[in-house]
Amino acid sequence: PPVIQTTDISKVYRMGTEEIHALQSVSITIQRGEYVAFMGPSGSGKSTLMNIVGCLDTPSGGQYILNGKDVSNMTDNQLAEVRNKEIGFVFQSFNLLPRATALDNVALPLIYAGYGKSERQEMAREALRNVGLGERALHKPNELSGGQRQRVAIARALVNSPSIILADEPTGALDTRTSHEIMELFEALYVRGNTIIMVTHEEDIARHAHRIVRLRDGLVESDVVNHDLATHQ
Ligand code: ADP
Ligand code: ADP
Repeated sequence: PPVIQTTDISKVYRMGTEEIHALQSVSITIQRGEYVAFMGPSGSGKSTLMNIVGCLDTPSGGQYILNGKDVSNMTDNQLAEVRNKEIGFVFQSFNLLPRATALDNVALPLIYAGYGKSERQEMAREALRNVGLGERALHKPNELSGGQRQRVAIARALVNSPSIILADEPTGALDTRTSHEIMELFEALYVRGNTIIMVTHEEDIARHAHRIVRLRDGLVESDVVNHDLATHQ
């Protein structure tokens, strides 16, 4: 079964008497192990779609099945539970705790998941090694470069073995060379079988994904697989 299946999902925002149709009828199926970029100009609905796919919000209409589970009409608490288990988030702004070490930042999601301290530390160390930061475990964010901070955030997203890595403009705060390094890391994670969804408005970043879904005015304008890059399926 697909990891993600949206069927005709729509999203309407109400602003006073005005209705904004941010998504109109979006149907997307994503299989385990895919690496997909959501692209589109500002206002096309990327953030709205990411928030729904990431279980931060629910659609106004249509159906969203995540790992065989209908999450379209869940309450906020149910959604939070699914989100913590299934989704690893990576943000443009890293969202790391400034006073905590890389290790403690990465271990944080494991506290909510109920792991004991030594297990958390072991899993966090392993996740840091997986992003090439095994030697930086005890550094705090301000003792790391931008690219290293984003690697810590990626390790935090991976540590709980989520079904999906959901990255929102993951290179938006990074220079070109560092962005390229982060894309190389995502490619390595993809080759290892992770399912990755990345939201970006940059062509140069999107072309690293093996499939590009383009949104325009809340609709899927195109959905294209790059067969040169698709190592799975
Ligand atoms: P993108 O991420 O591609 O820039 P968004 O999903 O943020 O697009 O926005 C899609 C449309 O929905 C835009 O017209 C935007 O102004 C509107 N919109 C997004 N979020 C809200 C909100 N919370 N309330 C009202 N309108 C919103
Ligand atoms: P960007 O830096 O790309 O604008 P943000 O960090 O502002 O991204 O977050 C994008 C979306 O994710 C927003 O809807 C925000 O409310 C939500 N978000 C941000 N941080 C977290 C978090 N730690 N956990 C869950 N949702 C978050």
